[in-house]
Amino acid sequence: MPNIINDNCISCHSCIPVCPTNAIYKAGENWSLADGTISKNNQKHLALSGSITFIVPEKCTECVGSFDNPICSEVCPVSASVIDENYFETKEQLLNKKNQLIG
Ligand code: SF4
Ligand code: SF4
Repeated sequence: MPNIINDNCISCHSCIPVCPTNAIYKAGENWSLADGTISKNNQKHLALSGSITFIVPEKCTECVGSFDNPICSEVCPVSASVIDENYFETKEQLLNKKNQLIG
């Protein structure tokens, strides 16, 4: 399950630089699988939110293989980054995603 940022977010952007897969973007920012990664697919996709910081599910690994717990949740001052219960992925799927994105 990737993380999702809820309406508590105050757009402090503390979570953006700590994400190991560069899955977090500022409101209104277009995103790419290749942003900050070794992936060759740098096709741009439209921002998922125009009003709050957002996480791209295709890039969020729940920090599996990088940290013991989602690091964005740990640094968030208002507990706005939470597990997205509607988007289930196994640990193996999350690890494969990490390996594809950042090796
Ligand atoms: S859970 Fe980890 S990989 Fe997912 S957005 Fe947060 S910091 Fe990035
Ligand atoms: S999710 Fe938390 S750490 Fe990230 S921008 Fe919002 S308030 Fe800041």
